[in-house]
Amino acid sequence: MARIKIAIVGLGKIARDQHIPSLAASDAFELIGVASPHHSLEGVPSYPNVETLLHAQPEVAAVALCTTPQVRYDIARFALQQGRHVLLEKPPGVTVSEVQALEGLARRQGVVLFTSWHSRFARAVEPARTWLVGRKILSVKVTWKEDVRHWHPGQTWIWKAGGLGVFDPGINALSILTRIMPTGLALKGAELSFPSNCETPIAATLQLADGHGVPVEVELDFLQTGTQTWSIDVRTDTGHLSLSMGGTVLSIDGVAVTTVQQPEYANLYAHFAELVRHGRSDVDCSPLQLVADAFLCARRVDVAAFIE
Ligand code: NAP
Repeated sequence: MARIKIAIVGLGKIARDQHIPSLAASDAFELIGVASPHHSLEGVPSYPNVETLLHAQPEVAAVALCTTPQVRYDIARFALQQGRHVLLEKPPGVTVSEVQALEGLARRQGVVLFTSWHSRFARAVEPARTWLVGRKILSVKVTWKEDVRHWHPGQTWIWKAGGLGVFDPGINALSILTRIMPTGLALKGAELSFPSNCETPIAATLQLADGHGVPVEVELDFLQTGTQTWSIDVRTDTGHLSLSMGGTVLSIDGVAVTTVQQPEYANLYAHFAELVRHGRSDVDCSPLQLVADAFLCARRVDVAAFIE
């Protein structure tokens, strides 16, 4: 089968760490172009923006948008209008309404839109979801604590409106949670801590409830030094599920469960290839909706300036 000709827009950390190697290893895609204002990729035709890219390379069938979130909507809109399939890195937009508008545009254009949520493709997520089916959940605790200085050095966009702050990693937890929980989640309350020099929060606590009213506590921190924690713990009437290391390690009642070793982004691109081949979009706003709800209802706490 012919490989899908794809281009990357936004040649930053995630494009280099994951998208380029995953596309190089993929049988389904061929990376034929890149658009990024200040960077080019050796051996691949590179352009300063998406307009020039799609004009110069009409054979590009799909684009993967790996830019900062704040510029993603206009680029996605242009690509969809030009009849290209679009993969959106997480978060799929700065607002829920942006993503809904893109979904409608993709439908009208007859092309595919994929809100990609990479953490859902971590190898222990589907086994965790399967294990929870039919079980009575008693409580859920999400702990997502990492050191922004280590993982995001120099990424000032995170601290600007629309950059999500601690929700940049935290939305990965919410993407897993919304995938594995058997019933829908409602946000009941939140507290967001804003450094005096930032437009986005550096820490957050959220209180949610599942469809049976069971409490779900979420604790997010961007200043965690030492051990980094990306875990979800679910107590049920028939055992305790622990999903740790960002969805890659699963244990039940303290006993590790063996899962098939598959890299997240290989799975993600395999799914995107299926969507393109079948002309089907996969759009899910639920993690972004929870973040938006947190901004809607949160109590604000002012904290010390963030100094990188
Ligand atoms: P980054 O290193 O700051 O890279 C973002 C890139 O976007 C920059 O290199 C910039 O290109 C490009 N860009 C900005 N405006 C553009 C425009 N108008 N057209 C084309 N490109 C544009 O950020 P990142 O860490 O890769 O994160 C990007 C997105 O991926 C974020 O939404 C993030 O949440 C998500 N993500 C990141 C990670 C991670 O580990 N870092 C993991 C998963 C998902 P120039 O440098 O050429 O100006």
